[in-house]
Amino acid sequence: MNFNKAEFYTSYGLFSQIPKSEKAEIAFSGRSNVGKSSLINKILNRKSLARVSSMPGKTVTINFYSVDNIYFADLPGYGYAKVSKSEKQRWAGLVEGYLADDRNLTLVFQLVDFRHPPTADDVMMINFLIDNGIPFVVVLTKADKLSKKERAARRESLMNEIPCAEDIHMIEFSAMNGEGVEEIREIIEDIEQE
Ligand code: GDP
Repeated sequence: MNFNKAEFYTSYGLFSQIPKSEKAEIAFSGRSNVGKSSLINKILNRKSLARVSSMPGKTVTINFYSVDNIYFADLPGYGYAKVSKSEKQRWAGLVEGYLADDRNLTLVFQLVDFRHPPTADDVMMINFLIDNGIPFVVVLTKADKLSKKERAARRESLMNEIPCAEDIHMIEFSAMNGEGVEEIREIIEDIEQE
């Protein structure tokens, strides 16, 4: 699979706007500022295809990237406190609609900040994925910000903080130094060959 063959495809703010997809899709989910744009850019060897921002709470859209013969679906970040109730409702309608839709969604990368316990929203997302039988992998982001000792402690705590943790594939990742990116690319390539 050629990860360099990637381009922004389209962006939707309402579930009803999203047409059926003719290609397999991989979705990326996580709270605002968890490092989702940085992960997508790293996988695709790009500096700024997905927009990296230190300002969380961007507009609520699902952004699709065409990557060789699949689509990446960049789901809008959640958990930004300053978002209005109506924006939160729009988020829920968009993301739940997308995830529950009958499309060729082959995998979700669920991002969790490695430095902190998962938020209540993170746990809710993971439970949603489990309950709906959607295959997913947890990506623990910003791994470079932890010492070896802190990583070991977080790893152990996560076993009690994440539901069904022992059955979940977790990948420690850093957009800064590229740790974990090869494993993530291999998972994507395996999907493509299925
Ligand atoms: P998004 O809102 O989930 O798309 O998050 P971004 O990719 O925009 O990242 C949010 C902030 O975290 C930015 O300031 C990034 O530079 C920073 N960041 C993202 N990934 C990493 C990482 O792996 N290591 C470090 N040190 N910083 C990161």
